[in-house]
Amino acid sequence: MDFSLSVEEREIRDWVRTFVQRELVPLEQEVLRRERAGQQGLTGDELTELQLKARDSGFWGVQTPVSYGGMGLSAVMTALLEAELGRTFVQFRFGGAADNILFHGNEEQRQEYLLPTIEGKRRSCFAITEPGAGSDAKAIRTTARKDGADWIINGEKTFITGGNEADFAMVFAITDPGKGAEGGVTCFLVDRDMGWRSEYIDTMGEWGPASLIFEDVRVPESKILGELGQGFALAMQWIGRGRYLLPARAIGSCERLLGMAIEHANTRQTFGERLAERQAIQWMVADSGVEIEALRWLVLHAAWQVDSGMDSRHAQSIAKLYGGIKANEIVDRVLQIHGGMGYTRELPIERWYRELRLLRIYEGTDEIQRRTIARNLLKGHAKVGGVLG
Ligand SMILES: Cc1cc2nc3c(=O)[nH]c(=O)nc-3n(C[C@H](O)[C@H](O)[C@H](O)COP(=O)(O)OP(=O)(O)OC[C@H]3O[C@@H](n4cnc5c(N)ncnc54)[C@H](O)[C@@H]3O)c2cc1C
Repeated sequence: MDFSLSVEEREIRDWVRTFVQRELVPLEQEVLRRERAGQQGLTGDELTELQLKARDSGFWGVQTPVSYGGMGLSAVMTALLEAELGRTFVQFRFGGAADNILFHGNEEQRQEYLLPTIEGKRRSCFAITEPGAGSDAKAIRTTARKDGADWIINGEKTFITGGNEADFAMVFAITDPGKGAEGGVTCFLVDRDMGWRSEYIDTMGEWGPASLIFEDVRVPESKILGELGQGFALAMQWIGRGRYLLPARAIGSCERLLGMAIEHANTRQTFGERLAERQAIQWMVADSGVEIEALRWLVLHAAWQVDSGMDSRHAQSIAKLYGGIKANEIVDRVLQIHGGMGYTRELPIERWYRELRLLRIYEGTDEIQRRTIARNLLKGHAKVGGVLG
């Protein structure tokens, strides 16, 4: 078993580490200032400029296949890069990416949606959640009714990431009420100018998602993505695939936060001694260090399963659940070690405290991950000993 990186992998990882340090970390104070003023941390233009800078060094479409102009990096490598990006809360992502689900389009749809999205000319959002259907996605009520050659969509989606900025949405709607999720849900590519509107939702984090409202939105048959009635299967297939990337990002955040706590513990004196001398503080540092290490290997193991073509859903659920819980415990400890300063907005800890909370909610809550893990173990879909067991 070899846990080391190749020279090339190390070079790629180190390039991103330097990029974060040079280009993103210096923006942090301005991002915080803007957030407090109710503005977006990075404007669209600023994000594009940074993405083009990265592109100059070849960093474009890290997971996009080489045949589409991307780097086609492995899941393990992408997880390592995501961890590097997590070292800052500046909401940067590499350009040249498109939702996996868009690759399921036919040739016409690839030209109209996939390629312009990869090129950064169009922006998508993935819309399945509704006010009455989150964890229980099968309970969606948005309908698409056939009218001549078209479909008429009615309903409301909520908590849609990028929903305010997107110019088209992948929308899941019931096309056969009798079948529901078992063959009666279809995915449509719906341009904003076909008539849907969005409303911003204010959250604890910097970027609020949006509600999307569909009132008699007319969509041509050619906008069906994949097969009629197979939208739910497509959604489930897509949603689970990149789950490991969420806890991957948290690795970097936790490393940076623990670094801040160590520095503070080594310099702050109370009662004539450094905090670092106190066992109460040492144990918080130790537990955090152990948990970051455990999280790293859970994430990389899940990513390795993806690269190996194995069914990685169980491993991804474990990494997501553990990452969400531990990242929140770690940021809480780091805040505690900083005392009153940790609670202020002079330090970015409170920002991470708010942001990491989301990890326990989206792309499957803690409870839903536990439900999946328990079901896999109880029904024998996964072994207690994992792949080596
Ligand atoms: C910032 C943000 C971005 C998001 N982005 C998107 C997006 O781009 N596209 C999209 O479609 N959705 C998106 N979502 C929606 C997200 O996936 C849902 O919020 C999530 O799945 C939970 O659904 P819910 O909010 O309806 O909570 P509910 O499903 O109502 O759950 C409420 C609580 O009950 C628990 N619970 C539910 N069922 C069970 C059960 N069987 N057993 C035990 N406990 C249970 C949950 O874990 C949770 O704690 C986003 C959400 C947020 C907050």
